[in-house]
Amino acid sequence: MFEQDKGKIRKLKIVFIGRPGSGKGTQVDLLHKRLGLILIPSPGEIYRDQEFRKTELGKKIFPLIDRGEFAPNEVTNQLMKEKILKLTENNTKGFISEGYPRTLGQAEFADKEIGIDLLINLEVPEKEIIQRLSNRRICPKCKVNYNLIKKPPKKENICDLCQVPLIQRDDDKRKAVENRMKVYRETAEPTIAYYRRQDKVIDVNGNQSVDNVFEEIISLLREKTTDSKTEMIPGNHRA
Ligand SMILES: [Zn+2]
Repeated sequence: MFEQDKGKIRKLKIVFIGRPGSGKGTQVDLLHKRLGLILIPSPGEIYRDQEFRKTELGKKIFPLIDRGEFAPNEVTNQLMKEKILKLTENNTKGFISEGYPRTLGQAEFADKEIGIDLLINLEVPEKEIIQRLSNRRICPKCKVNYNLIKKPPKKENICDLCQVPLIQRDDDKRKAVENRMKVYRETAEPTIAYYRRQDKVIDVNGNQSVDNVFEEIISLLREKTTDSKTEMIPGNHRA
């Protein structure tokens, strides 16, 4: 599916998308470690960075963000383009990006300015996510996560390690989770549809163990990448 660049290995440019709580952070991390793909920080992470606050751009947009507004799309696009080009400059393998592009407008910009090869869509049904997140409890001291159903603490609502009461993040309360799902539907679905029209989407079943999800990703990547890009996927020795 990729055009051939004679004699030159093209970088693999992957976008990862999945509902909050789908486990995408873990998978992105594995892809980064196993395939050597550069990890692109999300716009949110960059915007939260104190150093960024001091830059010209930071000075312009922080008043907005501090008021709880979103940074304008053009600013995010420009920022991410520069960040991705800079981070991947000396890397021959490519990158994986989890937080960008998120909206359709960003996806169109990224396609034109950066070029995206594949979108990995980690699918976990909404019902399962609500189940996962609303049962999640966290230790305020050591930050370890528990799940009241799948990984309960030994003593009810007490951290096994620190013996302090567990808390529920406001983000994980049912109403907040439902709202996050709604935001996801509205922003991610048009983006997925956009890449699907270009035959760039890899759908992965996220409702299985971490190892099985990762194996599925690798085997689907192997099927979908051809020629100049196959050699970077473990288990491909055709090149
Ligand atoms: Zn603890």
